[in-house]
Amino acid sequence: MPEKDLAQVDAEIAKLIEEENRREHESMRLIASENYASRAVMEATGSCLTNKYSEGYARKRYYEGQAVIDQVEELAISRLRKLFAKTASAGTTEDDIHVNVQPYSGSPANLAVYLAFCQPGDVVMGLGLPAGGHLTHGHTVSITGKYFKSVPYGVRREDHRIDMDEVRKLAKEHKPKVIWAGTTAYPRTLDFPAFREIADEVGAILAADIAHIAGLVATGVHPSPIGIADVVTSTTHKTFRGPRGGMIFCKKAHASAIDRAVFPGLQGGPHNHTTAAIAVAALEASQPAFVDYAKAVVENAKVLAQALVERGFGVTTGGTDNHLMLVDLTSKNIAGKPAAQALDRAGIVANYNAVPFDPRKPFDPSGLRIGTPSVTSRGMGKAEMLKLADWIDRVVANATDEALLAKIAGEVKELCDKFPAPGLRM
Ligand SMILES: *Cc1c(COP(=O)(O)O)cnc(C)c1O
Repeated sequence: MPEKDLAQVDAEIAKLIEEENRREHESMRLIASENYASRAVMEATGSCLTNKYSEGYARKRYYEGQAVIDQVEELAISRLRKLFAKTASAGTTEDDIHVNVQPYSGSPANLAVYLAFCQPGDVVMGLGLPAGGHLTHGHTVSITGKYFKSVPYGVRREDHRIDMDEVRKLAKEHKPKVIWAGTTAYPRTLDFPAFREIADEVGAILAADIAHIAGLVATGVHPSPIGIADVVTSTTHKTFRGPRGGMIFCKKAHASAIDRAVFPGLQGGPHNHTTAAIAVAALEASQPAFVDYAKAVVENAKVLAQALVERGFGVTTGGTDNHLMLVDLTSKNIAGKPAAQALDRAGIVANYNAVPFDPRKPFDPSGLRIGTPSVTSRGMGKAEMLKLADWIDRVVANATDEALLAKIAGEVKELCDKFPAPGLRM
């Protein structure tokens, strides 16, 4: 008897996966942290490598039977070192870069940085959540804000850009152990050399978190912190288009501190199926087509941001340098949440988001965060971005007109049919 497949074993879950597959096909996915992983990445993720335990690191494992897994992990590491060396700061070669591919995701990768360099109670600095920072950079609701003394920095009131003068002032006053340079809702380039200078002035570890922009960094579309920051953490599933996972790059001097923090400090056995899929994603990101992809992500974001500005939307900082924009809906007399919900009913999926100095509450903020990584993975370009700006404009102006929202959802689906997404089953 052949083994039963998923639909035969569990019709409920099979049906839900089918439904999600359809939703991901027929909607314009604008969540800035999301993407489409390729069929190849998903095949590796769904492989027998999930069966194997391999605590430790290649050639230093705690269980036998690692002949294959060691090769998988070494391949992932060597591909990432080569790939990220290409765009690293001048003079940095792959031999200068240590890579750990075992963090289960972006948040555990960041925890490893705290474990490697900090003691509970130490001061850490990161961009505040309301200004576009991440929870794990010391927010009060996160373990990182509970176990460490967090001193958040912000953006300037005038132009909503990171205030490096404030970073320097706070760093000198509070002497942080770690300074984070990384964002989750910030549309501009980060100045890693300026962060480096400040970290050196106060003797701090500089940790860059490129979770959102790893695909842009790997291709030189965003300046790289590799060779500049002491440690660079990332997810693997956002602009990098890999499986859901995490990775850490660091200078050779910190290699053993980082490795020991990940295992045995925080985790047990690595997710080998994920490691294999990260290796696949690194191979894909090494192709010339991926450079074109990363450039198109940013170009699409610029086109969409400009088209929204022309339609009277407030766009934080006036535009974008990266894959996302923050739209301030104040001028449109609607809050972020009802706008995001109406857009969702029209087949356009974004998330409501606070804008800098938002007068509204975090659960009901003034803005939307819109990203172009997913639609660009489908091959959409300028014409589709202009279409999208029109739809967003009409939805936001008619958020309770259910007939219009349904009509737009139909038009969105029609467009999506012309742009099959990587990885989905049709
Ligand atoms: C997404 C993100 C993370 C966390 O990644 P998870 O995989 O969701 O844990 C960490 N830092 C930044 C800047 C992020 O954007």
